[in-house]
Amino acid sequence: MSLSQRYEDNECLFCRMINEEEPCDIITESEQYIAIYYTSSRHIGHALVFPKDHVDKYDDITNKKDFFEFIDSVHNEILDIYEPASTTIKINSGKEAGQLIPHICCHIIPQYKV
Ligand SMILES: [Zn+2]
Repeated sequence: MSLSQRYEDNECLFCRMINEEEPCDIITESEQYIAIYYTSSRHIGHALVFPKDHVDKYDDITNKKDFFEFIDSVHNEILDIYEPASTTIKINSGKEAGQLIPHICCHIIPQYKV
């Protein structure tokens, strides 16, 4: 999965994944949210968590409490599976902030001792 140069695409890559029009490696999902592996990341176990409804930016997320509860459960799963030394949890809201796809997502990035 390449996330580069997708921002300007008319069809949202994440929505395509949710609609099973694009392959993805699902970690876990609920009725409202899904977590997938960012398979081309250099960080093993790098997860992307996003709402199943198309939501452009952070401000547009309607129930942040539910979203963060789901993020927390995915984070726990990543800790259990990969036992990283540390994790980075980040949301890039907007193109200038580094958001690559105009569908908000949270990155959970395991960091390992080198
Ligand atoms: Zn979308």
